[in-house]
Amino acid sequence: MFSKILIANRGEIAVRVIRTARRMGIRTVAIYSDADANALHVAMVDEAMHIGPAPVGESYLRGDRIIEAAKATGAEAIHPGYGFLSENPDFVDQVEAAGLVFIGPSAASIRAMGLKDAAKRLMESAGVPVVPGYHGETQDIVVLASKAREIGYPVLIKARAGGGGKGMRRVDDPDNFPEALSGARREAKAAFGDDRVLVEKYVEKPRHIEVQVFGDNFGNAVHLFERDCSAQRRHQKVIEEAPAPGMTAEMRKAMTDAAVKAAKAISYSGAGTIEFIVDASEGLRPDRFWFMEMNTRLQVEHPVTEMITGVDLVEWQLRVASGEKLPKSQEQITLAGHAFEARIYAEDPERDFLPAIGTLHHLRFPPDAPINSTMRIETGVRQGDAISPYYDPMIAKLVVHAGDRSAALDALATALKDTQIAGSVTNVGFLAALAQDKDFAAGDVDTGLIERKQAALTAKRQPDNGVIARAALAASGARPSEGLPDDPWAALPGYSHFHPIERQVSLHFGGKEFKAGVTALANGRFAVRFDGMPPMAQSQADLAGTVCWPGHVTVFAKGTSFTFSVPDPFASAADAEAGAVSMRAPMPGLVKLVRADKGDAVKKGQPLLILEAMKMEHTIAAQHDGVIAEIAIEGAQVTDGTVLVRFVEEAGT
Ligand code: ADP
Repeated sequence: MFSKILIANRGEIAVRVIRTARRMGIRTVAIYSDADANALHVAMVDEAMHIGPAPVGESYLRGDRIIEAAKATGAEAIHPGYGFLSENPDFVDQVEAAGLVFIGPSAASIRAMGLKDAAKRLMESAGVPVVPGYHGETQDIVVLASKAREIGYPVLIKARAGGGGKGMRRVDDPDNFPEALSGARREAKAAFGDDRVLVEKYVEKPRHIEVQVFGDNFGNAVHLFERDCSAQRRHQKVIEEAPAPGMTAEMRKAMTDAAVKAAKAISYSGAGTIEFIVDASEGLRPDRFWFMEMNTRLQVEHPVTEMITGVDLVEWQLRVASGEKLPKSQEQITLAGHAFEARIYAEDPERDFLPAIGTLHHLRFPPDAPINSTMRIETGVRQGDAISPYYDPMIAKLVVHAGDRSAALDALATALKDTQIAGSVTNVGFLAALAQDKDFAAGDVDTGLIERKQAALTAKRQPDNGVIARAALAASGARPSEGLPDDPWAALPGYSHFHPIERQVSLHFGGKEFKAGVTALANGRFAVRFDGMPPMAQSQADLAGTVCWPGHVTVFAKGTSFTFSVPDPFASAADAEAGAVSMRAPMPGLVKLVRADKGDAVKKGQPLLILEAMKMEHTIAAQHDGVIAEIAIEGAQVTDGTVLVRFVEEAGT
């Protein structure tokens, strides 16, 4: 076994690999970019090497620097995690040329599966069912159109270099074929620099079922059952589970046999996944599944397989890469219970899942697994960490396991309702809604389920008066009192002992403003009055489940969260007093490029800085002529409402 390995990744997967390595007594080396100097994966390891600036092209994708770091620290092997360099065969060659071990398959295996058309031809010849279609070399439009007719409409045009659903077009009518083809080619060229396509039968009511396989360097290959990843949005997996709902012994045998055959056909070593598309229009039938692609790495959703089999897949990766045989034979691998994984992201379901960023001011996962279940939280962040614009905005994966599917799904819904995150918008409410969806609960999932129900699953819940009152109480500055439970005045700084003063607060939610007045009463209670409502009595207990963070207050209630924005009255008062005008960040982001200095006289419309937020760059231009008194510094992470520019005085007005 290795004595020291380098983990060429970040976030939850780096943390995941480190945990198993440490349990096995293997020393660990992390790499990190400027943005990750204080990240969890760095804090956990024995040694960490700085690898470059935040952008992935200058850090986590710099194979040369990663190999240097491994050599400098005496690591014997490199674990690539998923994404980044995990499926880059040239990197594998370089690692091996440097005398190190790549913890994963051979470069040849990765190359064999790298292009969809070649992989499909290879699988066809190995006797693995592939989607009926054309995977040939010819790219002539006349040939492709006639192949499409032969296959039968609807068809799907796919980029052979495809990934992430790019360069894919469904065509229902032969008349639209030429236009769809040029669209797919354009997109493929832009995304992959390769505009060659294949054409295949469009599968109706498709389900995505994949089989976990594992091979070693002695020609052995086994499967660890299947996962169902049909709950997708725009071809991105949302909730995964194992085993697949409705799976029959006959179907499982056909699928796992095909998967093991596929792995053996390329002498596969390490963890891999064979993805199949299944026509579920008439249930699961052994003649209706087809090979889609192979992922030659550990998958994001591998924990559901670990939960049902009790196998630590990272341990197996380390054992196989260090030259051991597969730890178990096929007969020794058994399946128990049912597991789900939900991917928690910083993204805004209401704005079509726009990626978000922010500081995780409050991050609380359920402290215990829901009753009769076991739970795993896979995360690379802690409370106080930021979701930056540089990397995937995943916050955590919540994984649960129980005796059967319905118990596991209940546990998932409960755990999601008990997850509290403030500081960034997240998809937690959406995931909880999906976990409680009737069709999902019935196991009636296909890849179109989420899109069909998107409006209902993402509907914003409105806060009721109780929630608004709790938000107002928290925003008023009331704090749980310490040591003086009976003295209401101690709880609310600035409140008079003799004349109860009403403190005014203004809250915004979903474009609406709520103005409230908060008064401290006797016996540790408060009265909150708003919008002509009779005053509502509140106690300090109502502060539990509320979190104040810069410019906001979040209330956790009824299994979801409500985030109000709270304009800072002191900041606006200071502005008014100074007669200065300031410009504030419209959303949380990263100050990327500052183009003006303190003391500069600037003209209206002049670009002052660039704020990177929501994966896009926003130019912040002067709203008027003026002299700059203060300006944000490059590299600063700001929350919405942070002052970016303050003017000394207003010139020319
Ligand atoms: P990518 O590599 O771009 O992610 P895949 O080939 O893995 O593309 O397909 C992504 C998703 O597209 C699948 O999970 C499935 O939902 C859908 N899909 C792929 N092929 C077909 C098909 N022939 N018919 C219907 N849907 C398909």
